[in-house]
Amino acid sequence: MNTSTSTTASNNIFKIVQKKSTTSKARCGILLNNTTTPNIICNTCSCALPLITPDLIDSNKILKDSIGKLPFAIPVEDVILEKDAFNKTNNIHQHSNISASNLIFFAPRLCGTLLSGPSNDKQLTVETVQGRRGINVDTYFSLMNCIQADINISLCDEVPNDASKNRHDKSVRRTLNWLKDLLNKNDNAVTINKMESKSAQNEPVLKKQKVQFEGISASSNATGHSNNETHKPILFGVVLGGTNVKLRKISAECTAELPVDGYVLGGFNLGETNAERGEILTSIIPMLNENKCRVLKCANNPIDVLEAIRLGIDLIECNYPYEMTRMGYASIYKIPSTSYDNNVNPTDCPGGNTKISMRDKRFETDVKPLLPGCQCFACKSYTRAYVNHLLNAHEMLAETLLYIHNLYHLQMLVSTARKYILDDKYDDFVEDFKLGLL
Ligand SMILES: [Zn+2]
Repeated sequence: MNTSTSTTASNNIFKIVQKKSTTSKARCGILLNNTTTPNIICNTCSCALPLITPDLIDSNKILKDSIGKLPFAIPVEDVILEKDAFNKTNNIHQHSNISASNLIFFAPRLCGTLLSGPSNDKQLTVETVQGRRGINVDTYFSLMNCIQADINISLCDEVPNDASKNRHDKSVRRTLNWLKDLLNKNDNAVTINKMESKSAQNEPVLKKQKVQFEGISASSNATGHSNNETHKPILFGVVLGGTNVKLRKISAECTAELPVDGYVLGGFNLGETNAERGEILTSIIPMLNENKCRVLKCANNPIDVLEAIRLGIDLIECNYPYEMTRMGYASIYKIPSTSYDNNVNPTDCPGGNTKISMRDKRFETDVKPLLPGCQCFACKSYTRAYVNHLLNAHEMLAETLLYIHNLYHLQMLVSTARKYILDDKYDDFVEDFKLGLL
């Protein structure tokens, strides 16, 4: 297989580090000197990872080295009611006790959800625990600066795939207008900040005032980016357009012309087929700046994750581990080249090749781990019989253990995929994975 010379790109936010392949668009990179890509983004619930507490992650090296390095997504509806809780010493990392090694994406919508309230050209409507709230550009920008997430996904108007063409047109236009407004606000804030900072330096000490963005004073955020006068929130633009390839291309082209820091390919998992998603991604990815990070929102299962990576996606928001957990399943799909202890092949697990229902009576006396050979915290310490008992007793620990395993296993799949990309054998990896499911 031919490979060209090693390529390193591109900016302070995202670096591509890999051997450039002649056969695959899959690529490896590093986001904010912190997160290796390709990778998955985990959804949060009330600003925290569901079912797993930060102290549990900190207490276990395996968890810390795997789940402890995954990026999280926090939606606007989870922070808008608590806006006043954030200040210069209490950004979203500190507020929610999320480690600096977990990059935080601030987002208008989470994977697997859809905004139900009415939206117009001025604002998006979100559902909060205290009822509906309208989010306009001013509010969103203010929140961005309040919580100081590592990366902000621009305000966007996502609609279901079966919405009318006019509605999709409207959603693309609104999303672009909101993105332009946010970029302008970003630039103006930095300009004002610089002027105030310069002015303050020339004035007596008593007259010095701390530089502030809309009431938010300077500080350092969790990834060490100084929030001084030159700090500018990192902003990713969102490409929409449903399954209309022409509209998608317009959205991609217009977004690519703007000085965004990365791209989010949104409006997925909203009714499109796999073939439609593949066609759209294949059409629009080449239109984006190849040196900027690309995020896909969302993927439903491990194969969708691997196919997205094959098309050149760097980060994938994926709720699959949580959905499996909620249904009482443990993932058992085989990861190519991964060695399992005790010479037990994971396909020997009863119940299927991708998942087993831990509520099943046959596990009542099964003393094997969820997936024999898996190195996760749950598999190393607990048996199927115990998880089966916890599920039947409606103990929350059952879901905690299942989620730890399911999330760890997907993370293992993606980290193994990275090794194959670096060896320029990614297509073989995907084929081997698919064969393992037969
Ligand atoms: Zn496990």
